[in-house]
Amino acid sequence: MEMKTISLPRLNQLNPTLESTALKLMEEAGELAQVIGKYRGLSGEKVELDQEMVIRQIACELLDVAQTAVTMMFVMEEQFGVNIESALQEHRSKLERKGYISG
Ligand SMILES: [Mg+2]
Repeated sequence: MEMKTISLPRLNQLNPTLESTALKLMEEAGELAQVIGKYRGLSGEKVELDQEMVIRQIACELLDVAQTAVTMMFVMEEQFGVNIESALQEHRSKLERKGYISG
C-alpha cells in the first residue's frame, strides 16, 4: 500500500488550546479554499495568476492545514490524554471497513 509519511514539528512558541487549534484549522482550511477559488476564478474575477505559483501556494496552504492538524494532535495527547497511535489504528481499520483501502 502506498503511504505518504510527513513529519511536522511540535511548535514550541505557542500555547495552543483545543479551541484555538480547532479555530486555526478552520482558518487554514479557509485559506486553502480561498487560494483554490482564486486559481479557479470561482468568484468571477479574471484569473491572471501564474499557474505554477498558485499551485505552489495551494501546497503551502495544504501544509498549513496539516501542521495545524498535527498541533491539534499534540494538544489532544498532552491536554486530554488521547492516544493518537491507537486512534490512528482505529482510523486505518475504518478505512479498510469502508473499502477505501484493502488490508
Ligand atoms: Mg495559511
